[in-house]
Amino acid sequence: MTELSALSAVPSGARDAVLKFYFGPMDCGKSTLALQMNYNHGRQGRRGLVLTKHDRSGGPKVTSRIGLGLEAIEVEDSLDLVRLVTSHDRIDYLICDEACFYTVPQIEQLADLVDEHGVDVYAFGLASDFRSVMFPAAQRLFELADEVCRLQVEVLCWCGRPGQLNARVVGGVMARTGEQVVIGDTDASPVRYQVLCRRHHRSGRLGEGADRSVLTPGGPAGL
Ligand SMILES: [Zn+2]
Repeated sequence: MTELSALSAVPSGARDAVLKFYFGPMDCGKSTLALQMNYNHGRQGRRGLVLTKHDRSGGPKVTSRIGLGLEAIEVEDSLDLVRLVTSHDRIDYLICDEACFYTVPQIEQLADLVDEHGVDVYAFGLASDFRSVMFPAAQRLFELADEVCRLQVEVLCWCGRPGQLNARVVGGVMARTGEQVVIGDTDASPVRYQVLCRRHHRSGRLGEGADRSVLTPGGPAGL
């Protein structure tokens, strides 16, 4: 006989799949954690897919600033994530990097995969854009996720406070308006991004000597 818990008709021992969203500013280690999580699940014999969009490498890869990298599936706007997963033999989990750039219907598809197909989904991304306004996909993840986790690795504003928000800097000045998604921090782009504390994101102060060479050593970087 199957034992039932007092609170629900779900047999004890049954484990629901989960939708988790890990968020934080750029440089907080999201992609590094995504790769680590993929490694850990793979070691347990679980089968997963790694997805990304607009990775800093420019290719269909998840790359971290500390040098790790892995081939990944690029999430185009037209990609149906349920069909992607069900076209595979058996998928236990998804690692969804840069999930803030997915479409809102794709976030719904992630929830369907959890609820209808028993797939664990681990999503990683920014919460808010350069104006400190939430990305639609991130908002939907906040609304739907079983668990939301703020990542706070040592990203500091120039003043020493914890970095919390991403600023878009164009020609040395912080931008307040513009397209929600603009790829920056590449050699070809006049746009760069800088992590600031809330106080300095609101005031627009970028700090002393805030020029490109000081803030983006090492060349290309993502959003
Ligand atoms: Zn600050």
